[in-house]
Amino acid sequence: MSDHVLVINAGSSSLKYSLVDALTGEVAASGLAERIGESQGRQVHRGTGGETETTRKIPTHEDALRGAIEAFESHGPSLADTAIAAVGHRVVHGGSRFSAPAPVDDDLIAEVTDLVPLAPLHNPANLEGIRVARRLFPDLPQVAVFDTAFHQSLPPHAYTYAVPSAWSEEHGIRRYGFHGTSHSFVSQEAARLLGRDPAEVNVIVLHLGNGCSASAVRAGRSVETSMGLTPLEGLVMGTRSGDVDPAIPAYLMRELDMSMDDIDRALNSASGLKGLTGENDFREVLRLRASGDARAGLAFDVYCHRIRKYVGAYYAVLETLDAVVFTAGVGEHSAEVRAASLNGLQRLGIIIDDDRNTAQSTQARRISPDDSEVAVLVIPTNEEWQIARETLSVVRR
Ligand code: ADP
Repeated sequence: MSDHVLVINAGSSSLKYSLVDALTGEVAASGLAERIGESQGRQVHRGTGGETETTRKIPTHEDALRGAIEAFESHGPSLADTAIAAVGHRVVHGGSRFSAPAPVDDDLIAEVTDLVPLAPLHNPANLEGIRVARRLFPDLPQVAVFDTAFHQSLPPHAYTYAVPSAWSEEHGIRRYGFHGTSHSFVSQEAARLLGRDPAEVNVIVLHLGNGCSASAVRAGRSVETSMGLTPLEGLVMGTRSGDVDPAIPAYLMRELDMSMDDIDRALNSASGLKGLTGENDFREVLRLRASGDARAGLAFDVYCHRIRKYVGAYYAVLETLDAVVFTAGVGEHSAEVRAASLNGLQRLGIIIDDDRNTAQSTQARRISPDDSEVAVLVIPTNEEWQIARETLSVVRR
């Protein structure tokens, strides 16, 4: 029986896929279609025949997936020969309804549709990916894996906002948290790297990509996380503000006559590193900072200060801490961010070894001294593998 899962991550104008061996994490092929619906789209496939790229109009997600299936057949590996076990879909918002991956059926589609107001950009695109895959792979089981599910273990005092209770009771206003597949994967890997059972370790995970989030994971279960009702709250991100005084929108509406939509757009798309420096790519911010740009210097400091605050807060939540883990683009690659965020915390048992921190590596590794009380780890995230594993666990149970 094959352990291969076709993982699909459908965005509003893109569709990414990988064919992953759920047991080993080995990627047999991957690819993406982007600029779906625009006049010129791009399709990339990395398979047995190397990487191929085509530019053509890709009117719909269905065309994108058809293009991927053709690429599998012409550039390998052949899907017919691979005997896929299932299709696993990334779904951003599972609300309070989904605390685990779930088989796709009409009820699931209806429930994910009901959650669209909580993720108006993401859930419709994820649903489109599901519909298309059901049409093109009618004989394969399909599974939805939710970004929010891992954080459904948060206790009420962590997920409740101190707002009128009717908001939560009638409208679902609460903390949900996101990047759950990454936090889940990385916290398990942390335990493995320490040679311990996940049920024995307490970990702070810092996922620093374009979107950034922190989580406190106690004995394998998320107990606190920085993103909230939406992925806007928490750490400083590429284009998102993270935490701000909730009175700022009302102030801007009154004093600057801005509309709610303009403010929402500014906080999501024109804030964070982009708002502070004009650049949302962290490498550009580092380059500007190195050239003496004062705004980039400040942005770096704000970014790392925010991480430090969350580490302190989550340490207090967990009471005892075994590891702090950095992951995703910035977390895996920027020794400067890791050092600036954690330096000076030796009284908390958190120490970074400079040589280990600056050594170039793409492997999961420890960057604290071997005998430090808290291990500081860098662990490459692998959301596709985690989705494949969870998908297989649903179809094999
Ligand atoms: P996504 O959230 O889209 O999956 P990634 O995890 O790939 O994003 O992270 C993207 C971020 O990582 C970008 O801001 C990018 O600049 C940053 N990044 C990638 N490589 C490096 C590097 N070598 N040094 C610093 N930042 C990096």
